[in-house]
Amino acid sequence: MNKPASVPGQFDAVVVGAGFSGLYMLYRLRQLGLSVKVFDSAGDVGGTWYWNRYPGARCDIPTTDYAYSFDPDLEQEWTWSEKYATQPEILDYLRFVTDRHGLRSDIEFSTTVTSARWDEQEERWRITTDARKELRCRYYIMATGCLSVPKSPDIDGASRFAGRVYFTSRWPHEGADFTGQRVAVIGTGSSGIQSIPLIARQASQLTVFQRTANFSIPAHNGPASAERLKQLDEDREGYRHDARWSRGGIPLEPTDILGVTASESVRRERFEAAWAQGELFGILNVFADQGLNPASNDIVAEMIREKIRSIVTDPGAAEALSPKDHYFGTKRPCLDTGYFETFNLPHVRLVDLRKQPIVSVTEEGIDTADESFAFDALVYATGFDAMTGPLVAVDVAGRDGVSLREKWASGPSTYLGLMTAGFPNFFMLTGPGSPSVLSNMTVSIEQHVEWVTGCLKDLREAGFETIEPTALAESGWNQHVQDCAAITLHPTANSWYMGANVPGKPRFFLPYIGGVNAYRQACDDVVSQGYLGFRMTGPGGTRCRDGVIRRMQPDVAMVMELVAAMGLPPVDTLSAADARALMAAMAQTRPPGPEVGEVTDGVITGPGGDLPYRLYRPAGPPEGPRPLVVYFHGGGWVLGDLDSDDPLCRDLCARSGALVVSVNYRHAPEARFPAAALDAFAAVQWVDAHAAELGGIPGQLAVAGWSAGGNVATVACQLARDAGGPYLAGQVLICPVVDSDMTRLSYQENGEGYILTTALMRWFWDHYADPADRGDRRAAPLRGNLPGLPPTCIVAADFDPLRDEGVAYARALEAAGVSVRLARARGHTHTSVTMVGVVISGAPVRAEIAEALRNFFPNAAPQEPPS
Ligand SMILES: Cc1cc2nc3c(=O)[nH]c(=O)nc-3n(C[C@H](O)[C@H](O)[C@H](O)COP(=O)(O)OP(=O)(O)OC[C@H]3O[C@@H](n4cnc5c(N)ncnc54)[C@H](O)[C@@H]3O)c2cc1C
Repeated sequence: MNKPASVPGQFDAVVVGAGFSGLYMLYRLRQLGLSVKVFDSAGDVGGTWYWNRYPGARCDIPTTDYAYSFDPDLEQEWTWSEKYATQPEILDYLRFVTDRHGLRSDIEFSTTVTSARWDEQEERWRITTDARKELRCRYYIMATGCLSVPKSPDIDGASRFAGRVYFTSRWPHEGADFTGQRVAVIGTGSSGIQSIPLIARQASQLTVFQRTANFSIPAHNGPASAERLKQLDEDREGYRHDARWSRGGIPLEPTDILGVTASESVRRERFEAAWAQGELFGILNVFADQGLNPASNDIVAEMIREKIRSIVTDPGAAEALSPKDHYFGTKRPCLDTGYFETFNLPHVRLVDLRKQPIVSVTEEGIDTADESFAFDALVYATGFDAMTGPLVAVDVAGRDGVSLREKWASGPSTYLGLMTAGFPNFFMLTGPGSPSVLSNMTVSIEQHVEWVTGCLKDLREAGFETIEPTALAESGWNQHVQDCAAITLHPTANSWYMGANVPGKPRFFLPYIGGVNAYRQACDDVVSQGYLGFRMTGPGGTRCRDGVIRRMQPDVAMVMELVAAMGLPPVDTLSAADARALMAAMAQTRPPGPEVGEVTDGVITGPGGDLPYRLYRPAGPPEGPRPLVVYFHGGGWVLGDLDSDDPLCRDLCARSGALVVSVNYRHAPEARFPAAALDAFAAVQWVDAHAAELGGIPGQLAVAGWSAGGNVATVACQLARDAGGPYLAGQVLICPVVDSDMTRLSYQENGEGYILTTALMRWFWDHYADPADRGDRRAAPLRGNLPGLPPTCIVAADFDPLRDEGVAYARALEAAGVSVRLARARGHTHTSVTMVGVVISGAPVRAEIAEALRNFFPNAAPQEPPS
């Protein structure tokens, strides 16, 4: 039983919403011994499943998984009748849970919370409802759902229609009988796709108005999967554990098969298996790269379009029903029962609003640009103001009266999707910035409820009364959420995930796409690091450990995990020969880099013998000579060759439009300092002298290099300046070694665990240069004479031991009057920016490098970036 309010109208917690989230939150808060009041606008519990009573409404996550897991007895007592339960059955389930735990007594139904204001003096929230009731609470928890505010139909004349009007999200409890009626359904998202086949069974005429064709696969509903039931029977706790630590909230082995490299038979087999299975996460897991790579995505998309064409007999309708304006999965794919087949019925017609837009709703029906339609009933299946809609629908005001609407005017800002700075003790369940709608929501809901419960318990035990995130932690999380989205195809779609379905809503990727497992880990890490990024206050004082929980780019983190799992020996424990063999073997497995027009190999005569070079010529126009870039590979003066940096050179060439001449140089320990530097200078002289022959524009020459290659590139620049030539238009130094001082902060922060380690740098230096030589400006160019050097672009990566020397070089060059562009590779390691085709988040950095190169050569032709 709930603890009664100690003071009338004053509760420990107010929860808004009595769906899956609110009910479980109430249950947990009671266990903590808090007094709680729950409000819901609905007349009963159920949330989504109370409101969405349209024909065909079902879950699209199998009910074996779309259910609470916190109560093992409940799991035994409730048996679902189907693989995908109907709305009435899910509503019954939620009522059953409510009654089983006696939750109803604390819930006030048919009551809408209209405002919530933080009272600074009392350190409590003042809550107002539409019944003009005011109460106060310490903790304000919005369990208001992601899909609970219907989007109003933005169609002219919507109120003029004289017949019956239905909204799928506000379906009448008595149901609707369309027998013998002329019905219009507007919208073909999930609700439209579920309801259309059933409405067609009754209606005498059904016209479906479609703005965007959506991907849908057959649900193949029926009994629950025997395999899943067996897994659950054998080890229920293990199954639920796997769900909690999975990407989507259902146990599933993510495939590592890439669509772009799989054979045609493997592609077909995997797709057909997913089609036959009829599960959302199955069809999203045909290929590992389908959410990232347009070419892979198109393989799945085209196979679905093929299926649509094979089902729908009218080729015109089939074409209109085949989605082509977004990548598969970037809008929520639907599961259907006979949706496409419905369009073969003689009384069903599809109107493609792209060709024939609605002009207005009339008294009789709908006028499009070409036709007037008469109807008895209109059904709006037009979706929701997703995720943020329900939160900003309440007038929430935090510290200094700042409203949530104002704070989020250009997009939501949260820490972990749970809280937002300036709004103490205000929690959101499945808020923006958490996996929510991209996951099996019951798993995400339980995780949020349990996190909030743990947090309130910890707060009380430590004697704190308020908690709120810091601005730093919040902006770090927002950045991470957007970084995760940026490497996927999602931001390209006009989806409700992007807020694009609501006119005027800021374009912003709302949920967290890094996965339920990664997200849970982040939430757990925040707690284990003493509530990192939260400020807690109480009578005993304030505690705040400020910081950012995830700074690494998500794909860099994935590569790091993969490398760690390979269990490779540290390079600094190997001989130079073994280290070279290991690097060469690793290079075999990576993607080749973009196509360029031509690649030719040649040889330069250097001071100590022949130096092989590889020339990359960009594809396409303009014909004729191009600027030249002499490039030096990385590898600590010990490792690397023309092959090691081949994908990067292709990328630089394709992006910059310049000819790239990658030159190998003598390596240590066979040829120690200053061999590499002297070779680099000789190579620059040679390329300058042979520019025309190589197809370059004489006098338009720059140097570039990564890591130790950056070292020899900039040494060559210094030597060229001192020698009075060749003239160099610029230098690009990617994570360069510019000093031998290993005491900088970035060595302390990043000296271990990010591939290039302090131990490895020491190994490189030991192979390359005697300690006495390490201060020489040809080894440590930061200590050289800097005025008169050409314009410079330096890339400094966050997780690189060399970060701070790169930054120091940039500052020193600037102080010497050199024009410098410092490109911060945010969330990157020493190596990740160069991993072309593997680390997608490196592409913007390489685009910046290419732009810097183009700026060195003002007359160079503009270049299309590689796809
Ligand atoms: C048709 C449909 C099918 C779905 N199928 C699936 C599925 O298969 N799998 C899945 O994971 N997810 C599915 N979802 C998402 C679904 O919303 C969640 O799974 C889950 O039901 C959300 O529960 P909730 O308690 O967080 O929010 P909701 O169920 O949306 O409940 C929120 C409640 O808050 C109330 N409320 C909001 N604002 C206020 C206010 N100011 N004052 C008072 N009350 C307020 C609302 O009335 C509502 O009852 C589906 C959604 C829809 C619309």
